[in-house]
Amino acid sequence: MSESSPKATATELIHHPYQPPAGFESPAVGVHKASTVFFPNVAALRSQHWQDKTGYTYGLHGTPTTFTLEARLATLEGARHVLLAPSGLSALAVVNMTALQSGDAVVLPDNVYNPSKELARHELAGWGIAHRLYDAMNPESLRAVLGSDVKLVWLEAPGSVTLEFPDLPALVKVVREAAPQALIAFDSTWSAGLAFCAFDLGVDVTIHALTKYPSGGGDMLMGSIACRDDGLYRRLTMTHSRMGLGVGANDAEAVLRALPTLPLRYAAQDASARRIAEWALTQSPLIRRVLHPALPGSPGHAHWAALSKAAAGLLTLEFDPAVTSDQVDAWVDGLSLFRIGWSWGGPISLAVPYDSARLRQLGSPYEGLIVRLCIGLEDTEDLIADLQRGLDQLRRGR
Ligand SMILES: *Cc1c(COP(=O)(O)O)cnc(C)c1O
Repeated sequence: MSESSPKATATELIHHPYQPPAGFESPAVGVHKASTVFFPNVAALRSQHWQDKTGYTYGLHGTPTTFTLEARLATLEGARHVLLAPSGLSALAVVNMTALQSGDAVVLPDNVYNPSKELARHELAGWGIAHRLYDAMNPESLRAVLGSDVKLVWLEAPGSVTLEFPDLPALVKVVREAAPQALIAFDSTWSAGLAFCAFDLGVDVTIHALTKYPSGGGDMLMGSIACRDDGLYRRLTMTHSRMGLGVGANDAEAVLRALPTLPLRYAAQDASARRIAEWALTQSPLIRRVLHPALPGSPGHAHWAALSKAAAGLLTLEFDPAVTSDQVDAWVDGLSLFRIGWSWGGPISLAVPYDSARLRQLGSPYEGLIVRLCIGLEDTEDLIADLQRGLDQLRRGR
């Protein structure tokens, strides 16, 4: 703004001589909001290429707030590049749409995050993309569904809801041998960038539901896509941008604000979940099995132990097959500290009952009803007392 002739208040309120502060530092990253970004002149507008991320061109392509969050998440994930998406599921969708075209196939573990299967069954199938399922606990079942049409293989550890921990290095090896053309994508939501580094195991791309531990409040949705390879990043960036997947600066700032406490929250929820898993073992035979990767009897425990010492805040209880669905529902309804709701990673503990048989297409190894517990930040002994009270009632009522 060069001239200084008097202007109407409406104009002055918009064209105010504000300059972003230089020399101002505080613990917070500023919330920089934009759809429009100003260029000093037409030559600058013409010479800026949004793909480079070397400057600012349009809100969709990033602001100082989102660039800072991307850089911090790259550090967390052990990646070189990160893109932000409006939810974990939309991050998954970007990876699918980048890697797959009509005639290709995608391969998913049968215990994958279920909405990922739904995307394959509906949109991907409609676009002529096939999907095949494998048993994550059996690398040979993965080999059996690989072929030259497979362009994307999803891995997840542990499995969604039932928390079986697969032999990730073995699965990666099978894909490299039997489908060298395929990208390997890993859902790192549970490991949260803290339990182990999936890139060190040889995966190509990770997605992370920032909705869970990174944001930590149970109050927002966001996802990220991370990779190390520059060429793959360029492909992901183009798809991500053409789909118009921006995130709001206030939400990005909320994640930035929560990240410094992520390792502490994760460790606290991990410790509390382990203590509750140990307690749940004492509830046998009413509780038939406790699924938690750090318990020696849990499926894939040795695979987890070979990779990591950390285990997030989830555990799943399999009830004795004689316990009815009404009894399980009444137990969950009767909990007072545990609330009933989806998602995890926030301060409030959550419980969700599932019918194990309906979770799987390849056959379920579980016979009883299952309840997934996500442990929040409440006092552990209070949570155990809450769980115990209802189980005692259930025993008396049988
Ligand atoms: C929650 C979750 C997602 C999806 O995240 P949203 O932000 O809810 O879309 C993806 N993968 C896993 C393993 C999840 O737990």
